[in-house]
Amino acid sequence: MLKQLHAFGVEKNICFSNRSFQQNQTNSRARHSNPSTIPMAQNSSSPLPPLKFEAKPPNPVFDPHGLDSNLLEKIAYDALVWSSLRGLLVGDRASQKSGTVPGVGLVHAPISLLPMPFQESHYKQACEVAPIFNELVDRVSLDSNFLQESLARTKKADAFTSRLLDIHAKMLDMNKKEDIRLGLHRSDYMVDEHTNLLLQIELNTISSSFAGLSCLVSDLHRSLLHQFKQHLALDPERIPENASANQFAEALQKAWSEYNNPRAVVMIVVQAEERNMYDQHWLFTLLMEKYQVRSIRKTLAEIDAQGELLADGTLVVDGEVVAVSYFRAGYAPTDYPSESEWSARLLIEQSCAIKCPSIAYHLAGTKKIQQELAKPNQLERFLENKDDIAKVRKCFAGLWNLEDSSIVKDAIERPGLYVMKPQREGGGNNIYGDDVRVALQEMHKKGTEEDAAYILMQRIFPATSPAILMREGISHKEQVLSELGVYGTYLRNKEKVIMNNHSGYLMRTKVSSSNEGGVAAGFAVLDSIYLV
Ligand code: ADP
Ligand code: MG
Repeated sequence: MLKQLHAFGVEKNICFSNRSFQQNQTNSRARHSNPSTIPMAQNSSSPLPPLKFEAKPPNPVFDPHGLDSNLLEKIAYDALVWSSLRGLLVGDRASQKSGTVPGVGLVHAPISLLPMPFQESHYKQACEVAPIFNELVDRVSLDSNFLQESLARTKKADAFTSRLLDIHAKMLDMNKKEDIRLGLHRSDYMVDEHTNLLLQIELNTISSSFAGLSCLVSDLHRSLLHQFKQHLALDPERIPENASANQFAEALQKAWSEYNNPRAVVMIVVQAEERNMYDQHWLFTLLMEKYQVRSIRKTLAEIDAQGELLADGTLVVDGEVVAVSYFRAGYAPTDYPSESEWSARLLIEQSCAIKCPSIAYHLAGTKKIQQELAKPNQLERFLENKDDIAKVRKCFAGLWNLEDSSIVKDAIERPGLYVMKPQREGGGNNIYGDDVRVALQEMHKKGTEEDAAYILMQRIFPATSPAILMREGISHKEQVLSELGVYGTYLRNKEKVIMNNHSGYLMRTKVSSSNEGGVAAGFAVLDSIYLV
């Protein structure tokens, strides 16, 4: 099923609408009291240290709104040509077949015309912590009790998480072990303006999108900075190297190679309609061109119809042995419209194909687990190195469960300082502002266990800045804010870790008035960073 692509949220599956960049919900900080007054440190279930402040970033290097209109037109034109020729593309919603037939109804990906200034120390911090998060996910995935127990209350309140947990439990009953484990993650951050801290929004362990396109945005921006050097006076070298597509392809190849069957394929589990298909095709074109590894694209329904498990656990789909099953679907309830899709997910999980992610990796990336890991002494269960623990913890925003009555009370009083999140991926599911109050009060009234489906998170307020956003060939001057995602690639076998890296980045920029604004809804775009 089609969903809107939110560059900040619904990034996993896309449906580009024709709406222009315009304001919807307010993200204005002015409405709220000072977020530093949020009672993070007082909360007994919170591991957060007292609020710290870091040095403020330098002023923006450049105001794109001040660009001469002729020059802006030229840069925009060249950006559109570059995007069209180099495959920085998405399916055009206006074309009916653009989600199913490649080469039909293409449009340039929504982009920011020029890179976004970003503090170098924050970028380095996000890169440095990526391999630690990779390792953390791996270790959490091995602790079945931790996963089942942490999600036990959620299971009662959330049917989707419950189905995932059932598959996980089945694997435990079968004593199924994943010796070769592949993680293609993306950890997302915003920089809180008030404290200048880089704070994690979430860690994606399934279907981390845009690794195929985000490296192109960095290339595009570098190229524009070269071309218009005398006008812009920005140094192209300040845009960091971004090899996200190559690194994802390399990780997939290395995993395929661990499976050790030259005739096997990589299977991409996809949604029936996918307007973000070029992002995916980039990875598999690289996999073929660089490594001669073949891939097949299958929906869960097709896998159910065409898949079989051989006696030795080999997964065969449409006559092909599957070495790696890479999920770009399967993270949302809408991906399972019938039992057939659940059977396919179970079939894959039972097989000896390498899963990206395995059910345990998938669960380790849930928001509930993010919140559990933020409790005191939880990280210590999984990581030994004190520096590593401190680095991870430094990225944690305030996270709470809804059993914490003092936090719920505060969130009802000051809802603007919180985000309420269900166990969902793909964007558009969170609750903001006054809706937080309403939702909490309704839940309280009903007195059910519905609250277990949600977590509460400290709302992060990033600084806003001017930018030019390009959508459907038109440039829009907007006041924006950004979210940095850093990709992580992790591969290990029974004996050793084969790969554990930070692997490029994704910058997403949205109009500052949007809570979760999306590329599809016309609120957000792909971007790159300019280190300052
Ligand atoms: P999803 O899995 O749906 O992508 P996220 O946790 O990434 O869920 O939330 C979606 C979007 O909502 C983010 O990209 C960000 O724009 C916004 N958001 C999420 N958490 C916060 C927060 N704590 N403060 C401010 N904005 C947030
Ligand atoms: Mg997200």
